[in-house]
Amino acid sequence: MRIGIDLGGSHIETGLIDGDKIVDQIEKNFVQEDRKNIRNVIVETAITMINQILENNNLTKKDIEIIGISSPGIISKKTIIKATNLSLEEFCLCEALEEETGINTQIRNDAKCAALAEKKYGSLKNYEDAVFVGIGTGIGGAVFLNGKLLEPDMNEGFEIGHMIIEANGRPCSCGKRGCFEAYASIRALKQRVTKILGISSDISGQYLRENLLILDNKEVQDEVESFLNYLKIGLRKFNRYF
Ligand SMILES: [Zn+2]
Repeated sequence: MRIGIDLGGSHIETGLIDGDKIVDQIEKNFVQEDRKNIRNVIVETAITMINQILENNNLTKKDIEIIGISSPGIISKKTIIKATNLSLEEFCLCEALEEETGINTQIRNDAKCAALAEKKYGSLKNYEDAVFVGIGTGIGGAVFLNGKLLEPDMNEGFEIGHMIIEANGRPCSCGKRGCFEAYASIRALKQRVTKILGISSDISGQYLRENLLILDNKEVQDEVESFLNYLKIGLRKFNRYF
């Protein structure tokens, strides 16, 4: 049995994996309040979820071979070097979980994790050369050449979300302006749409998709149109590199 943790810019999800199957999972969306003390919230939530999953399935820590974490941002060995969407720098999440659980814990960039999953089980299964783009709170990318995932030392996570697509454009969480993810991430769309509707942006991507994007509201639909246009611009630019 293994445990997988998906750390995102807006949520954390923990799953129990038996062979190739997810047999149990728990999810929590971050709220604004969590961001004040995000390191503690992440560690405490992950530990609570692990214990909950063990208890639900009548397991002990000894039954778990490994914990694998997928995290946004730049990862080196077992440390999150920088994840701007979570305002994290030099964060040793693996160490904190290992200390608490005694279980070997590994971490990798989330776009790479998702790309590897698509290569093994999904849409990239039959392709040797491919670019993968993950659109969530931020935007991440990964590249396969001759069937092999590129893992450059520099630009480790293909931080394509911070590729400039608009000179002097919208401000980004990284401190620059005009980044791809300031226009074409789910967070950007969420912020624009909730502002138009005058509601809190503390909503899940699922709620946005199922309740707000379908509204018969001209301003919302224009925003979706503009989001898709920026997405095309960014994808074209990324694809051009390869
Ligand atoms: Zn940026």
